[in-house]
Amino acid sequence: MERTEIIISGDTAGIEWRAPVFRFKGSDATAPSVYMQAALHANELPGVAVAHFLLEKLRAAEAAGTIRGDITVIPQANPIGLAQSHFGEMEGRFDLGTRTNFNRDFPLVALAERETLIADLDRRSAVDRLKRTLLHTALGHDLVLDLHCDDESLQYAYIDDAFWPEAADLAAALDMQAVFLSDGESTAFEEAVGHAFKHQGEEKLKTVPGRLSVTVELRGRRDVYAGMAARDADGLWAFLAGRGIVADPALTARAYTGPAVPLDNIEMVKAPTPGTILFHRDIGETVRAGDILATLITRPGEADGTITVAARHDGLIATRSSARYARRGDDLMKIAGHEATRRDRKPGTLED
Ligand SMILES: [Zn+2]
Repeated sequence: MERTEIIISGDTAGIEWRAPVFRFKGSDATAPSVYMQAALHANELPGVAVAHFLLEKLRAAEAAGTIRGDITVIPQANPIGLAQSHFGEMEGRFDLGTRTNFNRDFPLVALAERETLIADLDRRSAVDRLKRTLLHTALGHDLVLDLHCDDESLQYAYIDDAFWPEAADLAAALDMQAVFLSDGESTAFEEAVGHAFKHQGEEKLKTVPGRLSVTVELRGRRDVYAGMAARDADGLWAFLAGRGIVADPALTARAYTGPAVPLDNIEMVKAPTPGTILFHRDIGETVRAGDILATLITRPGEADGTITVAARHDGLIATRSSARYARRGDDLMKIAGHEATRRDRKPGTLED
């Protein structure tokens, strides 16, 4: 194992950030290579814990000589966001200085243009340098996993159509409860990687066998536990074994049996008016159109001071807000439905 650091000097004097990078060299040049990073949204820590346990397994595998393909892991990819708190709380998702999402504005380049990402890095801001260095590193691999989490959430992933259903092995290995098939039209890290993989020549590729770019949502923000993280590390290990990146002949492949739904099938349940949220239903439950999902106390103490929010379509509750007060229009839940119900959705991500 080789341990190096991405070093990002600050935009003001006297500051420098460091993100450790762990690299394992595979013994088989024909085996695929894999890149994983966690906590690009700095306050999403399940992936940090999973990477920690996975690295423990990989060190043992290296000692046993069972690593076949090159593996790169950056277990805490965003030291800049990690340091940004205000009023006692880590922001994590947005850079406080520029108000930009740490997982947006990744440059969309073709794979052949990879080196342009790090040209003139010194002229760019610290956050841009970090983003470009992470993307440049990732694009040196065949398979790229970006480990995130949602608010209160099932285990699910965003996977571009171009990598599906080949990526069902990852969904099975991590025991995912849903897969959201994305359309590759945003500037999120995973979609910038997917963009490069799809643009390897003259024509844009519709499928890219042997490649993968995925955003894994490792349940909710508070789902950070030793047993859970160790099981997910075992899941990632099984995925690596299935792809021939580590040797583990005892493992047998499992099939993914959960739903795989396009983003147009995801009902974003919103609060129509502000209020205190009383949820009636939880993640993992299936609902029918008309089922009451939540009561909002809009005018506390008044006889008619509540409204109810109902499901508009049948589906599986994949995520739920951890907030208990909703501003007008806030997202309360994501429900994965059986058919396309979003005719108004622009291509790209579900949330800002
Ligand atoms: Zn995230």
